[in-house]
Amino acid sequence: MKSDATCSDCGLLSCYRRDKIFPPFCLTQASDPSALAEVVESYRGEGEDARTARAAAEVEGTYYGKLTRVEEIIAFANRIGAKRVGIATCIGLIEETRVFVKILEAHGLETYAVLCKVGSVDKTEIGIPDEMKVARGCHESLCNPIFQAKILNAQKTDLNVIVGLCVGHDSLFMKHSEALVTTLITKDRVLGHNPAAALYTAGFYYKRLLSPEKKL
Ligand code: SF4
Repeated sequence: MKSDATCSDCGLLSCYRRDKIFPPFCLTQASDPSALAEVVESYRGEGEDARTARAAAEVEGTYYGKLTRVEEIIAFANRIGAKRVGIATCIGLIEETRVFVKILEAHGLETYAVLCKVGSVDKTEIGIPDEMKVARGCHESLCNPIFQAKILNAQKTDLNVIVGLCVGHDSLFMKHSEALVTTLITKDRVLGHNPAAALYTAGFYYKRLLSPEKKL
């Protein structure tokens, strides 16, 4: 066992039901009790973290294995009292966003969607060379997640949903969004937006993932 073992090295997962022993490196056992108590306290009462934690647990417990993620987002939005849902969408998933908007509105929620290319700023304006564009020699707007967040902040959305933002652009959106953020679609351009497929198939078809030949 490596000296810095963590939960990914644990075969017991006893923190879930306490039905087995805890391993010697257990992060539950090693936690500072007062730090844990402080966090647990934040889930109690009427603060935003507490209401969010209860709403998420209620959706999980009520609909476990019964609802799609689209429906779970609606159930979660209702439980946190959200009326206005912001959508930060990728241009490549705009058709999916249009359907999602119709569904949210059919369930009585207001929507406000902002495309990743909003502002229409060419990539070269932030120092990205033309060779790094998907199509060279023409205007190609950068993804603008901070502006997406600022527009949704100005719209006072109650919950923001990511539809397929790129890796890293999603990070910036989450960093700058004032409203809580959840994800409907995690973009994977190769695997039909199912990034877990790379993990399911890493033992054979995607074994290159486990023996990298060069730094990505
Ligand atoms: S907290 Fe402890 S029991 Fe739970 S997964 Fe991590 S190491 Fe295992």
